Amino acid sequence: MGKVNIGLRGWRFDEDVLGEDGRVRPLATMEPEDRQRILVLADRVVDPCDACWLEYGDDKIAECNVAEVIYGEPGGEVVLCSAHEPDFLYWFREAGGSEYAGDLELQDAFHQWIVDGHRAPEGYEGLEHVDEDPTSLPDAPDRSEAIPGFEEEIAEMDESDLEAIDVDLDDLDV
Ligand SMILES: [Zn+2]
Repeated sequence: MGKVNIGLRGWRFDEDVLGEDGRVRPLATMEPEDRQRILVLADRVVDPCDACWLEYGDDKIAECNVAEVIYGEPGGEVVLCSAHEPDFLYWFREAGGSEYAGDLELQDAFHQWIVDGHRAPEGYEGLEHVDEDPTSLPDAPDRSEAIPGFEEEIAEMDESDLEAIDVDLDDLDV
């Protein structure tokens, strides 16, 4: 089965997370871990890059680039613009970040590294963008198309469904 990015590069999903119309399937039909990642993604896809936000702060939010890529585990994820992605990759590979792989502490640890003023060395490329993955869908939908508002769906869920989702709904503007 092919893998797709939805909205942001980084996290990849089995393509059957998308329905035939190219949109994310109803949450109730998904595996719990996909559902959790989709909900975090829906929340973060509209955020500014974490590193931009740490640099500029809420006062100059307009200066921040939009998030383009997401790394880490749901709840400890980091979103980045293309300009800051090399900083994350450098931190992860060369500056001790890999010890946080799979760990929710990754987000705080990376943020602290940025706040402390560290960056990748000038010219650090990170990775050549290997977006030409043969297994990815050629026309994976863009972020606004693919990720519907989940407000209605969440409103219809009962308590046990909501508990199963296990994300902080306060973050989701529902
Ligand atoms: Zn940025």
